[in-house]
Amino acid sequence: MTPPVPADDPHQEGGFETLCTHYGEHRLAHGGGATPPIYQTSTFVYPDAEAFEGRDDPKTPYYVYTRRSNPTTTILEAKLARLEGGSWARSFASGMGAITAALNLCLKSGAHVVVVSDCYHPTRRYLSEYLSRFDVRVTFVPGTDPADFIAALRDETRVLYLESPTSGRFDVLELAPLVAAARARGIATILDNSWSTPYFQRPLESGLDLVVHSATKFISGHSDTLGGIVVGRDETLRARLCDEAEMLGASIDPFAAWLLIRGLRTLPLRMEQHQRSGLAIARLLAQHPRVQRVYHPGLETYAQHAVAQRQMRGYSGLFSFALHEQTREATNRFINRLRVFSIGCSWGGHESLVVGGRSADLFAENVNEPEWIIRLHAGLEATQDLVADVRQALED
Ligand SMILES: *Cc1c(COP(=O)(O)O)cnc(C)c1O
Repeated sequence: MTPPVPADDPHQEGGFETLCTHYGEHRLAHGGGATPPIYQTSTFVYPDAEAFEGRDDPKTPYYVYTRRSNPTTTILEAKLARLEGGSWARSFASGMGAITAALNLCLKSGAHVVVVSDCYHPTRRYLSEYLSRFDVRVTFVPGTDPADFIAALRDETRVLYLESPTSGRFDVLELAPLVAAARARGIATILDNSWSTPYFQRPLESGLDLVVHSATKFISGHSDTLGGIVVGRDETLRARLCDEAEMLGASIDPFAAWLLIRGLRTLPLRMEQHQRSGLAIARLLAQHPRVQRVYHPGLETYAQHAVAQRQMRGYSGLFSFALHEQTREATNRFINRLRVFSIGCSWGGHESLVVGGRSADLFAENVNEPEWIIRLHAGLEATQDLVADVRQALED
């Protein structure tokens, strides 16, 4: 969990980039290494039996067992709590490990959840297929109108689960009215912030109770590890989440935590580049005669652009679009013509990726007329190479 920052640590304050580089590392306490050690150990030993007896005392200087906590993962958690504007963070073995733990924390049998319809597919399945076994009811709300979300809240609603931007069409939800309505009814609010990262959006500052991340994506940034994070401010939620996480067992491996600490050092630089390339490609697509619609919240023509501008500091490089020609052949022809983009799911890494399919299949949305949609992740290659690749793939 989140460690105390020693009072004499010179790196407690500073801009986002400074915190990414230094916050929470206490280098002199770790032999002065410029990078932290990887405590690749499953368990920890004690100097005497009395110290071991007191192992559950939160003030004990000793770690117990890596499923509970580990000094390397503690550094990652401290950094992410600070970057998100939270007071604590808990790491997990994957984004889904974090999301399921956060939902379980707030739910019980018979509870009701209100969820944005265009959410990440496995999250949707966990809610509608898995939790239904425990009598949890779910309402999926399409679109972006806050009134629709508020109208879906019931007496038994325990969680309002949001993504903004969402996973298929990158819709931006106006958070303030949703948070106010949930808070007035004692409903917990959770937001998946994987798309924006704390560099572009800090939902806890808008009053969200919990932020969850697939750290596998931009926080790692290198497509080489899985990880998940839950961040919050409430101390009661922290204590219960840590207790439950130890039972659920989806704890992060210390080496994976170390890779995520390394990823965070370049997060601001990478996000600027993803933003630059993503917007350049989206602008090309938006004025191309073969393109019907571009789902990128950073485009001035995008329906929720004004809300996005107010709520966010910028845009990552993951977005989708639809060709005029709504067929499998046209979709696959475009994808197969790409040379710099590789075909593959996931996103947030250094390499550009593309996937395509019908929106109902790919993004699991219950739309009456599924759209053939192509999702692009603009990686860290030269912007002009990515733009040129997309331009040539659109040639017939
Ligand atoms: C990938 C993803 C997840 C799941 O993360 P894993 O680390 O793959 O478990 C959760 N939310 C969103 C929005 C994602 O894209």
